[in-house]
Amino acid sequence: MFKERVVDRFNNEFGGASRTLAKVTAWNVGDELGVVVQTDQPNREEAAYVWLPYPPDGQSVPELALEYPGEAGRHSNTYPSPGLERGKPALKLVLRDERELDDTVAYIRAFQSFLPLPELRASVATESIDGGLIPVDVTRMPRAPEIKPRREAIPRAVQREVWQRDGGRCVECATKEKLCFDHIVPFSRGGSNSVRNLQLLCELCNLSKGNRI
Ligand SMILES: [Zn+2]
Repeated sequence: MFKERVVDRFNNEFGGASRTLAKVTAWNVGDELGVVVQTDQPNREEAAYVWLPYPPDGQSVPELALEYPGEAGRHSNTYPSPGLERGKPALKLVLRDERELDDTVAYIRAFQSFLPLPELRASVATESIDGGLIPVDVTRMPRAPEIKPRREAIPRAVQREVWQRDGGRCVECATKEKLCFDHIVPFSRGGSNSVRNLQLLCELCNLSKGNRI
């Protein structure tokens, strides 16, 4: 299982785990930086769930992260970890391959050292976008506007406004469980962190939206 591979790698990178429970393995990487691998889920998929604290304002958020405000959808076993205390917003990364794991280690290292957080792109989404492109004469292409090199964290004020507008519920199915902020136009396609481009989705509706794209 890929999640066991992730646990082995983090043991090598960050020393032995600080906590090992039936459902999670956790490392205290910094005073405000806990890293938690969920070992009870997913069951069959070749994927791993990694929880991290929400990065400081203006810092890059991994493209493969689901963003959880406050309590919504949090795995309760993440709470004792540094930076992941009850009530604090969190990221849940969905890792699927070695390249994403390498980039995640680099991201955590930068987070640990208070360096600018590097870009962390999703392999799957990138393939599905690039794979659908038809070769064209690029010399005739108009000059593209400068694209921001990395995905920035959603400002707290924007999070609050979206949360209030959507009534703390998934806009698709109205559940109050496992909610995350979803970019209506994906960040990788130029979508912004504006209130108009964000909505609350539950984890299930978010995953089924990902499969439709
Ligand atoms: Zn939903």
